[in-house]
Amino acid sequence: MTTSVVLPVLTRQHLIDPEICIRCNTCEEACKKGAITHDRRNYAVDAERCDACGDCLPPCPTGAIDSWRRVEQPHPVAAQLGWDALPEEITEAASGAAPMPQSVVEMVKEASFGQGGPAPPPWSAAHPYVGLYTPDRPAEATVVGKRRLTGDDSEVDIEHLVLDFGKTAFPILEGQSIGVLPPGATEDGRPHALRLYSTASPRDGERPGSNNLALTVKRVTRDLDGKPVRGVASGYLCDLEKGDRVRVTGPYGTSFLMPNHPGAKLLMICTGTGSAPMRAMTERRRRRLSRGEGGSILLFFGARRRSELPYFGPLMKLPKELIDVELAFSREPGQPRAYVQDRLRGRAQDVARLLSDDDAFIYLCGHKRMEQGVFEALAEIALSHEIVWADLKQRLRTEGRLHVETY
Ligand SMILES: Cc1cc2nc3c(=O)[nH]c(=O)nc-3n(C[C@H](O)[C@H](O)[C@H](O)COP(=O)(O)OP(=O)(O)OC[C@H]3O[C@@H](n4cnc5c(N)ncnc54)[C@H](O)[C@@H]3O)c2cc1C
Ligand code: SF4
Ligand code: SF4
Repeated sequence: MTTSVVLPVLTRQHLIDPEICIRCNTCEEACKKGAITHDRRNYAVDAERCDACGDCLPPCPTGAIDSWRRVEQPHPVAAQLGWDALPEEITEAASGAAPMPQSVVEMVKEASFGQGGPAPPPWSAAHPYVGLYTPDRPAEATVVGKRRLTGDDSEVDIEHLVLDFGKTAFPILEGQSIGVLPPGATEDGRPHALRLYSTASPRDGERPGSNNLALTVKRVTRDLDGKPVRGVASGYLCDLEKGDRVRVTGPYGTSFLMPNHPGAKLLMICTGTGSAPMRAMTERRRRRLSRGEGGSILLFFGARRRSELPYFGPLMKLPKELIDVELAFSREPGQPRAYVQDRLRGRAQDVARLLSDDDAFIYLCGHKRMEQGVFEALAEIALSHEIVWADLKQRLRTEGRLHVETY
């Protein structure tokens, strides 16, 4: 008589790496299934709620969220909250377990490398420093510059802030973000979580050679459903005065970086404060023009009104050989509503040329709601030039040539 041995079945569990996670809460906001939770110490994923959809992967600034482990039994949330590091991966051979069910493997693959998952940086990007300063050990910066970017008649308040690090090293690249620790605590007594803000200045500072960086901060006065709120960190930053000190963590971001090689073509699509990384990259290019390190930039920039478009004046003064600008206003009095995707369609030939160019890099940054419309327009343009967008999009991501940062 033969005895049959029942092998344990391994599955993949979605987890968060506590050694890398900066506790910024971005993933918890992104997860519509309510699968992510946290306490004072850690962030954790509830295996019973997580369906591996991948929505939380692209917005995570550190990649801590993109952690997966083979398990026989899922690690409960309570256990994850106590971890200092991820557990070791168990292999099928070591556990004597049956192979993972194919559907889970496919699901994880799709989550990590399909729509979501961090794209690699452009092949020629400079090496980014990440997480040099943490919430427990933040850097201190001083506000040395502040000006309102939106018109006085506009109800939207977007501020340009310059933070100086003095003698503290804070190496940051265009496309990276910093964390800001707002003072005070939440209603239940926990210190406020840090919020992320993209640097709006190039790697050598707001003024070349200075140890500072600029931010473009919109005061949040309404939540995503239009209900009046007072944004904790954006309100704090927009109310700062010159001379005030700010606690800063980071830098963060290893993917949304610009190519370093001369001649690379940039297609930038942004709305509102999504202009911050675009300003940083454009200024980097402007400073390198005299060294012959050019390359075309085609920028699509959307706002509700002209008076709400950050950096409108300086942008319009940039030379045509540096940047080609298409503006879209959705609420400009006396003008038909236009969105960035409309402008993309209006420049379909130029956009298609870039989509077919192996030396073109695409950046999308701004309001979460722009993403769908922009991708639909790109898909249409691709199709009209006999390019299959789904295939191209996947290739662009794996080649580090498509970068999305929406919030
Ligand atoms: C990688 C990354 C880069 C970012 N870069 C910038 C930047 O350059 N400039 C910038 O201004 N912001 C940027 N943000 C957004 C920023 O981190 C904060 O989320 C934003 O300032 C709101 O924080 P708060 O503390 O003021 O609002 P909270 O107190 O956290 O939220 C108040 C309410 O407003 C809602 N809310 C949160 N964020 C927004 C929003 N952006 N618009 C409308 N409602 C919102 C919340 O759901 C909540 O109901 C970035 C986010 C990420 C993930
Ligand atoms: S988004 Fe990433 S870094 Fe932020 S809390 Fe989630 S896992 Fe941690
Ligand atoms: S993969 Fe989807 S369900 Fe799972 S934690 Fe992330 S957003 Fe939530």
